[in-house]
Amino acid sequence: ADEGVESVPLAFPSISLSSRERRWSDTTPYASKKKLQSWFQLPNGHWELGKIITSSGTESVISLPDGQVLKVKEESLVQANPDILDGVDDLMQLSYLNEPSVLYNLHYRYSQNMIYTKAGPVLVAINPFKIVPLYGTDYIEAYKRKAIESPHVYAIADTAIREMIRDEVNQSIIISGESGAGKTETAKIAMQYLAALGGGSGIEYEILKTNPILEAFGNAKTLRNNNSSRFGKLIEIHFSETGKISGANIQTFLLEKSRVVQCNEGERSYHIFYQLCAGAPPSLRGKLNLRNAEDYKYLRQSNCYSIAGVNDAEEFRIVVEALDVVHISKGDQESVFAMLAAVLWLGNISFAVIDNDNHVQAVEDEGLLNVAKLIGCNIEDLQLTLSTRKMKVRNDKIVQKLTLSQAMDARDALAKSIYACLFDWLVEQINRSLQVGKRRTGRSISILDIYGFESFNRNSFEQFCINYANERLQQHFNRHLFKLEQEEYIQDGIDWAKVEFEDNQDCLNLFEKRPLGLLSLLDEESTFPNGTDLTFANKLKQHLSSNSCFKEERDQAFTVCHYAGEVSYNTTGFLEKNRDLLHLDSIQLLSSCTCHLPQIFASLMLTQSEKPIVGPLHKSGGADSQKLSVGTKFKGQLFQLMQRLESTTPHFIRCIKPNNLQSPELYEQGLVLQQLRCCGVLEVVRISRSGFPTRMSHQKFAKRYGFLLLENVASQDPLSVSVAILHQFNILPEMYQVGYTKLFFRTGQIGVLEDTRNRTL
Ligand code: ADP
Ligand code: MG
Repeated sequence: ADEGVESVPLAFPSISLSSRERRWSDTTPYASKKKLQSWFQLPNGHWELGKIITSSGTESVISLPDGQVLKVKEESLVQANPDILDGVDDLMQLSYLNEPSVLYNLHYRYSQNMIYTKAGPVLVAINPFKIVPLYGTDYIEAYKRKAIESPHVYAIADTAIREMIRDEVNQSIIISGESGAGKTETAKIAMQYLAALGGGSGIEYEILKTNPILEAFGNAKTLRNNNSSRFGKLIEIHFSETGKISGANIQTFLLEKSRVVQCNEGERSYHIFYQLCAGAPPSLRGKLNLRNAEDYKYLRQSNCYSIAGVNDAEEFRIVVEALDVVHISKGDQESVFAMLAAVLWLGNISFAVIDNDNHVQAVEDEGLLNVAKLIGCNIEDLQLTLSTRKMKVRNDKIVQKLTLSQAMDARDALAKSIYACLFDWLVEQINRSLQVGKRRTGRSISILDIYGFESFNRNSFEQFCINYANERLQQHFNRHLFKLEQEEYIQDGIDWAKVEFEDNQDCLNLFEKRPLGLLSLLDEESTFPNGTDLTFANKLKQHLSSNSCFKEERDQAFTVCHYAGEVSYNTTGFLEKNRDLLHLDSIQLLSSCTCHLPQIFASLMLTQSEKPIVGPLHKSGGADSQKLSVGTKFKGQLFQLMQRLESTTPHFIRCIKPNNLQSPELYEQGLVLQQLRCCGVLEVVRISRSGFPTRMSHQKFAKRYGFLLLENVASQDPLSVSVAILHQFNILPEMYQVGYTKLFFRTGQIGVLEDTRNRTL
């Protein structure tokens, strides 16, 4: 199908790219009367390929695949591509770039298990939700030898390795997409290829074994994905000068702590809890007083214990084996499991009302006794910590009793903190095991697996952070692709006016500006003792309503105009989640406990404080070790991440989820389209339309269309023949450029020639 048409990289636009002008404008009206097929959109939004029966110039009669014959307005028809372009492996090869054609092409390939397609420099991966025969040693070998050209994660990983060695530049593979789109699987497939090519030292085996560990502790079953990552991850794989893997480092972002104490019907908490309950050997069960998952309140609330096709006991065995591989001692492993059991038992602690003011006290029940034993603290201390709060009023220390909801909050906060500390500690241990030697002489390839843009009916602080991160990544994406394209044109001597492009900086400013940006205002409000989610929302309205990316909403809400669309956030819970405080009493309790992993809580001691938080702007001196707000910490992490990515050559993979049922063979046009828009793939295609995405060498062009010439051309050299063809077909000068070696066309131009060629042949 790709005969004569080159694989075409993304083109550089001649117009400026507006961050909010992202609607697909390329529904080019039906132009050629002789065209036989066109796309027609049914009232339900679905695109169908219709055959043109007659055409008056303003109206056409078309027949649809189901036999229906319709009279339609010509401007409602969208050009379809010639059959030779069916299933091209790069969307840039399409002569007509429009939504239905892109959707059709992806679907055409998907239905033949070709889940990977290039969109210029970007790899699009559509989740097959079934085992596809595209992986394993034979395929790895084939991609290594370049025996296969079909787009693939392996091909991306291969390019990354080659460019790392050739250019001596660090590389990154940036994977994005919605939950359940296949990011984590894609990351593993890339790691598999890197390990196969860079293996030898044995460290690659350890690197691969970090996956089951991090998935056990950081993934959970959600309604969207049975193995949903609840954290972002960057793994940096280091190579020696000879191209062998020498070590790795993992950084994680924003673990969803709340899941430990609360999750929705039909979802699960983190896999490791169920694995432990199902797979712990009898001796360990005895030591931890372990019960079945059903006996723990934290796990019981969502009424979901198992995942179809997953054996938690077997998974536990795999995790333990992986912990061995990354050198976590048996003693430390037992402490890890004890902490997990402590978290579970915490959820079972109950409270009894002790006075007429509804104050409560933690009951000395099985839960309390087990927690005290597992974390190694005094029973009374634990009881007191969960039922009271020590406060200092002027110079007096007073003890305030807690109500039921306050006590439960204190208990849940403790459980979340223990789990989060445990997770961080694990990552630290893994990094220690994967550590590269002190002298970092070699190069690296980083793989980023991070949550995609999210827009739900109700969006909270989590979506706020996630979408902010995506805004940053999108800017990186834009800048990089524009720059790349510019270089291409210059190389072939194309007359190309340098174009400044407008990016999503305005939206980033809305988040980041100080002192009047979303994050700063959030931090400021979080420091006020009387600040509430409502006062925060009002403050935003007061200061930001003139910002073009900000919209006021009724009540406690506000809307941000993101590059991928508008999202309304409800500020309920923003302040608390941003502060993320653990009671001082709890911190003191943990610091005094004699559990075997005191280092787990080390970070807690250093950074947690009940004093109001202070953002860096207001920070006066270095002496206070006050806790950063979650928003500010995340922003810092993101800046650091972007700095790292900026120094690499990026390779982008956009994962697409073809249906919400996690089922194979089901391709929902509307859902795919929405994701293509959100993750910027259509944007890339749209940009390219404004440039010269179709490229063909002078020779190829003359050979393919030369016979259509009505008059003989005096000179037979390919360039003269090509120019004569262009003239004969009245291709407007602004529609093409003649480069040193190739002709460059705007979208659609080759299509006209192809149609004529096909009718003539
Ligand atoms: P994400 O990380 O984007 O949330 P995952 O990578 O966890 O999504 O993928 C969700 C599920 O989709 C996986 O558990 C697996 O069942 C399926 N899946 C994803 N990619 C592939 C693939 N390349 N081949 C087969 N199944 C896949
Ligand atoms: Mg994932």
